[in-house]
Amino acid sequence: MNYEGVIEQSSVGLKELVESGEEIIGYIYPHVPLELFMAHGFTPSLVRALPGTSSGFEESLQTFACSYIRNLYSQRANGQLLPLAGLLFPGNTCDALQNLGDIWRVRFPDDRVFRLTYPVTRYSQDESTTKFLAEELRILSETIANTFNRPFLTESYDRAIELVQDFHASAQFLYSARVVNPKIIPYSEVVRLIRTFLTAPTISSVSNIKDTAARVRVTSEDLGLVDMIETVRLAITSGDYSGVKLPEDLETPRVVIAGGMVEPQAIATLINDIPDISDSAIVLDLLSFGFKTAFTEAPSKSSDPYLAMAQSVLTAPGEPTHEGLSYRMKAMKDLLSNLSIQGLMVCEQSFCDPDQFEAPSIERAASELGVKTVRVPLDPELSDRGRIETRIQTFLDTLE
Ligand code: SF4
Repeated sequence: MNYEGVIEQSSVGLKELVESGEEIIGYIYPHVPLELFMAHGFTPSLVRALPGTSSGFEESLQTFACSYIRNLYSQRANGQLLPLAGLLFPGNTCDALQNLGDIWRVRFPDDRVFRLTYPVTRYSQDESTTKFLAEELRILSETIANTFNRPFLTESYDRAIELVQDFHASAQFLYSARVVNPKIIPYSEVVRLIRTFLTAPTISSVSNIKDTAARVRVTSEDLGLVDMIETVRLAITSGDYSGVKLPEDLETPRVVIAGGMVEPQAIATLINDIPDISDSAIVLDLLSFGFKTAFTEAPSKSSDPYLAMAQSVLTAPGEPTHEGLSYRMKAMKDLLSNLSIQGLMVCEQSFCDPDQFEAPSIERAASELGVKTVRVPLDPELSDRGRIETRIQTFLDTLE
């Protein structure tokens, strides 16, 4: 195995897995069917941008490269890596990732690079979108089987479904519990548990989030909040908020974080580091590696696993990398108006075209509801940290 992938050395859980001989396939774009890799006997791991990465090699990338992929590329070039069996790039998402995949193949020819192409559209009358993605997944599965001589095992797939379902159920409960009572568990703790799972989706990381969800459920039962939490969860998954009733004594301000491939834990750290501000003001995020991951439905056990995985991937709350702006804005407005939100922080990855195209529409939709917004441009290194903290603090002060 001559591949040195881009998994952070600080991921102790992952490092231990690698040292114990586990083989890892990394992925970058959030909506990947983890079950597929597990069915082939691999551990999928989210490869993410890291603060403190020096970017001496970034001149190899074109000018439209966002700060996120510059960071990933520099990690690879700098050797800040743990071994990976392969790395999955997405196709049809954004130019930056398409380009990174192409350059990666040339610059690091010994790396095993795979590509999963997503459908551009979210909807189709004749289910051609789902069929297209199912076929892409089938091709990816065959490529992995041929490359590593590891077939897709139905038994492993079924076990993976249960594991990932447990994760989703726990993460959704924790997110919904915080909507009802943001003090019931810190935002930083929820996103830490999700991050640990995405880094190493193992029995141990799922047990951690399951145990935490069980503890929060007991506290919620004592406070008489479980029914409210379940109605919030159902509303978010179905889009029908008619049954939602929140406590009358909600603490304010209630803020939502919108954005895409921004690291939720970085936001939590930023907010917790601002004096006199607690992360209980953050009611929930709508980020790719947080909310959008938690509220994706796991695949069903089916005679056609590729179709089931495609259906699962397409249930993910919409990303700005795909069509469906009006659908996304409606979903966001329903959520903001029914969950008593006063403020929206729109976090944009620096030089991310999809984020920057989406942000004005988000601001407009929020202002139609009287929800105040602030745009927060970020890069993985938080290079403008002082100014960002001041901007967030000023925003929260205006909500008070
Ligand atoms: S941050 Fe934006 S531009 Fe960068 S990889 Fe993600 S979607 Fe693409």
